[in-house]
Amino acid sequence: MTDFQSVFGAAPEGVWAAPGRVNLIGEHTDYNDGFVLPVALPHSAVAAVRRRDDGLLRLYSAQGDGLVTELKAAELDPAAVTGWARYPAGVVWALREAGHPVGGLDVHIDSDVPTGAGLSSSAALECVLAAACNELYGLGLTPAELALTAQRAENDFVGVPCGVMDQMASMCCAEGGALFLDTRDLAQRQVPLDLAGAGLRLLVVDTRVKHDLGDGAYAGLRAGCERAAALLDLPALRDLPPAALDGALVQLPAELRPLVRHVVTENARVEQAVALLDAGDLAGLGPVLTAGHASLRDDYRVSCPETDLAVATAVAAGALGARMTGGGFGGSVLALVAAARLEQVAAAVLDAFAEAGHTTPRVFPAVPSAGARRLS
Ligand code: ADP
Ligand code: MG
Repeated sequence: MTDFQSVFGAAPEGVWAAPGRVNLIGEHTDYNDGFVLPVALPHSAVAAVRRRDDGLLRLYSAQGDGLVTELKAAELDPAAVTGWARYPAGVVWALREAGHPVGGLDVHIDSDVPTGAGLSSSAALECVLAAACNELYGLGLTPAELALTAQRAENDFVGVPCGVMDQMASMCCAEGGALFLDTRDLAQRQVPLDLAGAGLRLLVVDTRVKHDLGDGAYAGLRAGCERAAALLDLPALRDLPPAALDGALVQLPAELRPLVRHVVTENARVEQAVALLDAGDLAGLGPVLTAGHASLRDDYRVSCPETDLAVATAVAAGALGARMTGGGFGGSVLALVAAARLEQVAAAVLDAFAEAGHTTPRVFPAVPSAGARRLS
């Protein structure tokens, strides 16, 4: 008997998977209409799903509280749903708000994406349900349309003002590549990332730290970027070319200058990274990653002692480059490492965390994997 059967008493109609992600470079650019370059993780949320004809939405997660959350698909209310069920319920709500005929469902979720680690377990959860609804209810939506719906669920049902990167990565990444995404018009290109062929590995360090100040700080940073763009009379900071940066900075109040400097230089780093990957110079990406971290640490100020320690230790132990990834204030770090040095770098990070008295981080190599898909 499958897990779905033991919870819901019958077989599912289908099983879908949607991955978490690491962003190679392009942090805090997605709400500035800028560029990002995420890679899908092998870790995914898996949803076994069956339609119901009584309009009930019944949600179960193997990582949840052991209970089935029961809601009415036609009466979903952001103020009335609490806990993890907000994410899948929000997807059904957002699809229905957009006029799509999504009715009742039994949903069994099982995910191996670490939660709250900056690896987008929330987008994986949303996207797997969006993909399942799309097929079961014959909606005919594109992966990008599903990603936007999932983002709407997180913004307006869960109440997290995230950009669109996580959902686009989970829906649209392809195996063996990074997704070069322009978040202004959602133009996308798969950039080959043959790490193994170049003798490289991408090491992820989940610091297992989440600082509470992150939630409020994110909204403040976002507002700061919007204020700077308005003061510069630009639609978004993406519209400020690097050559015009210095001239723009002097027109801004001092507290906004580092924010603008980060966003403009970070967008340039994404373009530089893509050019390096297109030229097959994967090792050349290393210094770009480390420069990105310095910008997040010193200008955007979203790193923390644990992510700074992981980056500094990885680089000192021979990584080609490293940076925090995700929104910051904890979460994960990625390091680009020669295959032969992988163990050495991982061991150095574990040692440094032990010595500093930090929680033992979770360290694993990430292989660029596929986006949302049907498994059976
Ligand atoms: P991240 O997306 O970086 O992992 P978030 O705070 O955005 O961090 O999302 C984490 C939240 O998503 C969890 O607290 C939980 O509510 C929900 N979530 C993610 N995966 C699952 C799961 N498998 N089962 C239940 N809830 C989940
Ligand atoms: Mg998230």
